[in-house]
Amino acid sequence: MHRCLIPTLISLALLTGCATSPTGRSQLVLMPESEMKQMGLQAFTNIKKETPVDRDTNANRYVDCVANAITREVGGNWEVVVFKDDDANAFALPGGKIGVNTGLLKVAENQDQLATVLGHEVAHVLSNHSNERVSQTFAVQQGLGLINALASPQSGTGQTVMGLLGVGAQYGILMPYSRIQESEADLLGLDLMAKAGFNPQESTVLWRNMERAGGGQPPEFLSTHPSHGTRISSLRAHMPVALRLQQQARERGKRPACK
Ligand SMILES: [Zn+2]
Repeated sequence: MHRCLIPTLISLALLTGCATSPTGRSQLVLMPESEMKQMGLQAFTNIKKETPVDRDTNANRYVDCVANAITREVGGNWEVVVFKDDDANAFALPGGKIGVNTGLLKVAENQDQLATVLGHEVAHVLSNHSNERVSQTFAVQQGLGLINALASPQSGTGQTVMGLLGVGAQYGILMPYSRIQESEADLLGLDLMAKAGFNPQESTVLWRNMERAGGGQPPEFLSTHPSHGTRISSLRAHMPVALRLQQQARERGKRPACK
C-alpha cells in the first residue's frame, strides 16, 4: 500500500520541492501554492472570528493608504483589516490578507514606519516563508490535513499551523520565523517600501520604537533574533540601495501622503 504513495511524493517534490527565495537562497517548499492560499484564508477567517475589527474611518483610511501603496508594488488583490488589539503587531498571509492591530498604530509614528512593518510582513509572503516552515515541520503526506486542522484552530495541530503562518500569537502560541527568514524579510521589505516611495530611513527608528514598546507578547517581528543591533546594522548597510529605489520611485511620482 505504502509503495503507491512514493511516486506521488516524489513527483510532488519534483514539482514544488526546490525553490529559490527572492534573495537567491534555496528553499524547501513542498506545499502547493493553492493549499497555502487556502490555509491563509482559513487562518484569516479564524482571526476575524476571535478579534474585533476596528471600523474607525480614519484608522482604516490610513492603514489602507499605506498597505495599498506597498501591495501595488507586488500586484494581486489584498484585503486589509484593522483589528482592535493593543499588541503592536501586524501580519500578512498567503492568499493576500493583511491584518494590522490598533496597537501598532501607536508605535509606528508615521506612514514610513508603518510601511516598514507592512513591507516586512508582505516580504514574508512573497518569500514563501510560511510554506517553508510548514514544509519543514510537516511531511508532505500531511497535505490537506493541515487545512482541516485550521478549521479547528483550538486543536493542537490547528494552533501549530497558525503559529507556522506567523499568526500564532493570536492563539497564545508564538512560533518565530528563522533568523535567516527575518533578515530576508527585513531587506526585501525595505526595498519594497522604498519602491513604493516611503522613506527607508524611518525603518531603523521603527525598530527602536518597537523595542522600547516591548512588553507583553512580543510581536512576530521581534520574536526572534537577529538581535536588535544586527537588524539595524544590516538595514543601514542596505540603506544606499533603498534610498536609490525611493529616489526612483519619487521621480515616477510615487509620493505617498498617508495620514
Ligand atoms: Zn518577520
